Amino acid sequence: MNDLSQSVVSLSGVGAQTLSRLDKLGIRVISDLIFHLPHRYEDRTRVFPIASLSVGISALIRGRIEFVDVLPRGRKSLVCRMTDDTGDVTLRFFHFNAHQHNALKPGTLISCFGEVRQGFSGLEMSHPDYRIMTQPDAQVTESRLTPVYPLTEGLSQNALRKLVKQALHLCNLNPQLLTDWVPDKVLKKFAYPTLAVAINTLHAPDEMISVEALQNGSVPALKRLAFEELLAHHLSLRITRNKARQWQAPRFVDDNQSAIVEQFLNRLPFKLTGAQQRVIKEISVDCTSAHPMMRLVQGDVGSGKTIVSAYAALLALSAGYQVAVMAPTELLAEQHMRNFSVWFADFNTQVAFLTGQVKGNTRKEILQGLVDGSVGIVIGTHALFQESVNFKRLGLIIIDEQHRFGVNQRLALREKGQQGNMRPHQLVMTATPIPRTLAMLQYSDLDVSIIDELPSGRKPIVTSVIPAERRSDVIDRINNWVEKGRQVYWVCTLIEESEVLECEAAEKTAELLTQALPKVRVALIHGRMKSADKELVMQAFKNHQIDLLVATTVIEVGVDVPNAGLMVIENPERLGLSQLHQLRGRVGRGEGDSYCLLMYQTPLSDVARQRLGILRDSNDGFVIAEKDLALRGPGDVMGTRQTGAINFRIADLARDADLLDTIQQMAEEIFINSPQVIQPLCDRWLGASTDYAEV
Ligand code: ADP
Ligand code: MG
Repeated sequence: MNDLSQSVVSLSGVGAQTLSRLDKLGIRVISDLIFHLPHRYEDRTRVFPIASLSVGISALIRGRIEFVDVLPRGRKSLVCRMTDDTGDVTLRFFHFNAHQHNALKPGTLISCFGEVRQGFSGLEMSHPDYRIMTQPDAQVTESRLTPVYPLTEGLSQNALRKLVKQALHLCNLNPQLLTDWVPDKVLKKFAYPTLAVAINTLHAPDEMISVEALQNGSVPALKRLAFEELLAHHLSLRITRNKARQWQAPRFVDDNQSAIVEQFLNRLPFKLTGAQQRVIKEISVDCTSAHPMMRLVQGDVGSGKTIVSAYAALLALSAGYQVAVMAPTELLAEQHMRNFSVWFADFNTQVAFLTGQVKGNTRKEILQGLVDGSVGIVIGTHALFQESVNFKRLGLIIIDEQHRFGVNQRLALREKGQQGNMRPHQLVMTATPIPRTLAMLQYSDLDVSIIDELPSGRKPIVTSVIPAERRSDVIDRINNWVEKGRQVYWVCTLIEESEVLECEAAEKTAELLTQALPKVRVALIHGRMKSADKELVMQAFKNHQIDLLVATTVIEVGVDVPNAGLMVIENPERLGLSQLHQLRGRVGRGEGDSYCLLMYQTPLSDVARQRLGILRDSNDGFVIAEKDLALRGPGDVMGTRQTGAINFRIADLARDADLLDTIQQMAEEIFINSPQVIQPLCDRWLGASTDYAEV
């Protein structure tokens, strides 16, 4: 029998242990091995003279060992010096055994492959892949690039390579076993090779193919597989969407609803924009149908998404259902708490606040209120969705700033509040404009509403880009501004990974500014402060008891003080444009003029200069995202915080964005004409580890 769906046990060298290790990689049957693709390649097709090595390259070298020693200094290591008569290089092993030590004697001829690094005394390779040569003229080069596969603990690169070889051999004996799901039309259009050829090429590239070509995607075999992988992901999200359409959801209908809605809208201090009204209608239609709403509301910073979500909450409450509002930061949750408490003050229900910091009796009471139904709206962070939180009748989940949460996290939330076949409605909001092509993969399970209009009376924010050397001018400007009775933000940024450092920088800056501006009332807010303290500072700033608020990027969302019309952002070159745009959106909320000063460290690279220029020249989040995309590629626009970004095996959204249009067309055709290929395609690329289709 020669079936690619046989267990990998049938391959030689696969015992119980290897079987369980392969399982960790999602490899169970032979075809899983065939689709376990290399994530990079090593070039062992030529030998480098040692003299030509430079830091950072990976290279194959050949030569003679001159000197061996075990160095006890620091971590014990085995060190050899190797020469090929053009120069010498150090080989360093931190893990070694006596056998290795004995074999690497002076005079031994070896070949080595590894990455070149700068060592204490010249260039070195640590833990190179080496082979002892028995004859001086032994062949050491490979004819093809060497694939490097994703591994798991206990499984070596060599072992995996051997298994893949066996699997490929079986496959090549009978290539028609490998079903090619990509339609002929597409193969012809792009001049793609067949699946069998593509697979063989990636596991063992032809001699003509270079590492660079594989990286930049110009190899048709790679493009073809990337196409198939992206198609599979797109189809799987579409299936999720279709399945969800079949679930039942509460219908938010009530005899008094229109009166309640009218009263609610009349009491707002403003009239909704046309765009807000349109989105509200879309939401009403969703929430009164018997299937769960799954809607993404996209709107630029300050476009007024919150009130739109409050409207959805109103529909839920009026029909007797509970609402959960989840925000990515406590600060934003607190702001929502303030707003919703006011908007729903007249309702015969409680608005509760629940984050990880709410503890003890308060927490107990809220949890009880959610179970008995006396709490109608609960607002909080992801702590809302812990197991201990149960609802009486959860009808609507609102997720704000959805880009801060991952795709899987969002999908998992749908389980919450599930009762039998009933699921709550879901409304997610984001200010991060997602280029349409990317939205197809990240959000193709959602319907999208766009708020493309700002409330009237907003004046554009005037943005300037200035070097940090002009700090004292900036400080003068703050003085003048505060004398006019206006307020200011000063934002300290640091690289995302270190919140601690960011807070320290903000503390120091607050001290310096307090000294430099004796007449200005300065306060500090950062993410490591207690929730209650943050709330106090925000209230004081809102009440204009503070003139200058020094902050970390925690104020990116969740701060709304119209009188604060000047913002200084330090080191803006460290942040993504969308994040800067979002930060800047804290000003320009009132009637007066507003300004944003981007104060960069010199020297600034050309690209950084161009990027800040984009921000200076536009106040439109969509335009900014598109230009940023052109300059940097999608990964960066989405931001590294996009924790839930899908991990592709070989596709790369930046490199392969050109395929997305065709993929979308193809998906339509497949749904209509050949739905039977969806399951096998998703199995092939998403494997059992991903449950998109199951959620
Ligand atoms: P975002 O879309 O960034 O979440 P918010 O919902 O926080 O925006 O709204 C920004 C500000 O605009 C808030 O102060 C809000 O009260 C106000 N706002 C919302 N809609 C309107 C409107 N139609 N007219 C005037 N102000 C509005
Ligand atoms: Mg908002």
